[in-house]
Amino acid sequence: MFNSLTVRLNAAIFLSFVLLALASSAWTYRVDRQTLETQFVGVASSVAPTMIEVVMLDQAEAGIEFNRRLRNFPHLNGVTLFSLDGERRYEYRRQPMAVACPQQQNWLSPLLNGCMYISQQLEYESSPWLSYTMEVDTEDLQWQVARQVSMTLLFSLLAFAAIYRILNRWLSRPMAELVSQLPAMGSGAVRFPRTGMQKSELAELARVLERSDQALHDKQIQAEDLNTRLSHSLQAKSDFLANASHEIRTPLNAVIGFVECLGAQRSRLNTEGQQQLLLLQGASQSLLHIVNDVLDFSRLESGKLSLDPQPTALVDFLQRVHAHCQGTARLHKVLLGLDLADDLPPCVALDEGRMEQILGNLLSNAIKFSPSGQVQLSAEVISQKDALCTLALAVTDTGIGIDSDKLPYIFDAYTQADGSVTRRFGGTGLGLAICKRLSLLMDGELQVQSEVGKGSRFTLTLTLPLVQSVPGGGVETEDAANPQPLKGLSILLAEDNLSNQKLMQIMLKKLGCEQLQIAANGQQAVDASQQHSFDLILMDCQMPVMDGYRATRQIRLGRGGDTLIVALTANATTEDKQRCLDCGMDGFLTKPVTLATLASGIAEARAAAV
Ligand code: ADP
Repeated sequence: MFNSLTVRLNAAIFLSFVLLALASSAWTYRVDRQTLETQFVGVASSVAPTMIEVVMLDQAEAGIEFNRRLRNFPHLNGVTLFSLDGERRYEYRRQPMAVACPQQQNWLSPLLNGCMYISQQLEYESSPWLSYTMEVDTEDLQWQVARQVSMTLLFSLLAFAAIYRILNRWLSRPMAELVSQLPAMGSGAVRFPRTGMQKSELAELARVLERSDQALHDKQIQAEDLNTRLSHSLQAKSDFLANASHEIRTPLNAVIGFVECLGAQRSRLNTEGQQQLLLLQGASQSLLHIVNDVLDFSRLESGKLSLDPQPTALVDFLQRVHAHCQGTARLHKVLLGLDLADDLPPCVALDEGRMEQILGNLLSNAIKFSPSGQVQLSAEVISQKDALCTLALAVTDTGIGIDSDKLPYIFDAYTQADGSVTRRFGGTGLGLAICKRLSLLMDGELQVQSEVGKGSRFTLTLTLPLVQSVPGGGVETEDAANPQPLKGLSILLAEDNLSNQKLMQIMLKKLGCEQLQIAANGQQAVDASQQHSFDLILMDCQMPVMDGYRATRQIRLGRGGDTLIVALTANATTEDKQRCLDCGMDGFLTKPVTLATLASGIAEARAAAV
């Protein structure tokens, strides 16, 4: 309540009036008291000769005369006369039994006690004769002060009431009006009634506020417009990236697949051909890596990337990640070590793919920037409590290190510590930005320590839920042992891209498939599935005439209700996978596929469908 400006203002004015009333009463009291004192000193002077007679001559008649004269002053309660050496010589009391005034006196005693003392030395014809103390009744003074205080207070109240009315009309109400409309600022509809504001600063303030409201409103409309355009362009960017990724993956599938097929016939090539094949393999893998990075980064930026934690055997997983990087390490003549603490939990819930992406990125950077040096992947437990385990996973290298002034920006997108580094080692500058954002998505923290010329250490600290065990699979081992897992199956391939049709024919044949039918779009796939019962349909998603999602739904409604359908698509996101599963597919394979991923993807879908 006391936060309101008008309440504070009124309270201040009221207080000022009260203080003024008290000050004026105090002043009047001071003056009245002095007047009373002067008056009684005058009385003493008028009876001075009698006083001297009483003290000096000690005559009984003088005392009677003294008492008689003093009785004319009804407010004089008593007088005590002293000789100059302080001896009490005579005392007069108006009422002998009356209680004497308290001896202790202060400035307010006349008001509080109703009496006061006046002590003086009596001089007569310029010589001191005696001293006296008068006890004076101050009841009149009390009344006078009480009247004064109540009058001034009453006047103050009346004045305050008048000022309050004026203030209320000219200040409080218009201000309250202004304040009440402030929340509506920006609506473009703020209008202040000018009552009580006539030509005052408040009227000017009201005008300024109305103008600001209109300006704010216009700006808001502009901002909304910009926002809409921005979300459209973000959507367009996102669509573009998804399309571009799809369009690049489709031919890349053919490139990587055919390169793999050529790899199987490497022995037939001469040395130069073999070298060119190696370069081609490297180039196609880098291209795939870049496409994946760009897509992942865009999805992380737009918050569309979600994690899929699954029970994971931690030590096996870390050993696998380490083993995957051994080839690259050997190529760069780097010694790649693994240091796992003994107390690592056996099983945790983890998105293996995303964790491998982080560690793989850190390891490949460490290898890339430590030519002929040493790199180590290590893991240790920081704490373990309530089915949660906090781990520190670190990648340490003895490489070129990073300048201390570049370190704060190293996790920013498109950042590379040094332009010359890019030229020497290549890279898009997205890897660490993706690692950092993925770590945050896992509620983890990725930190770096580095010294130029000595090396770097990237540490990921994160807390993972402990789980009992990893559900046993056994599918891969069974099919891994079988080089032709598709032997005897009749397969329908729904794929519109001719190169990919050709590639898949080769790959499926390698995996033992002898009965393959090809549909160039979804409609053809639906028709084929009505005429023939297939063991497996590999379904592309984006196809002309009818896409793979609709085709799957129609196949499920017809004769192919139980047929195993596995998506084989250049769409690569978790949402894409979910969309495929939602429309009835049993598995999901992202292009580009290798023989191994194709075989394991089909095996997994078959195992899951059993
Ligand atoms: P890039 O694809 O360029 O490697 P990253 O985001 O993975 O992108 O890395 C960004 C930059 O950080 C690199 O260009 C390099 O300058 C620096 N960097 C990353 N890791 C290391 C490391 N282990 N040693 C030295 N510099 C590194």
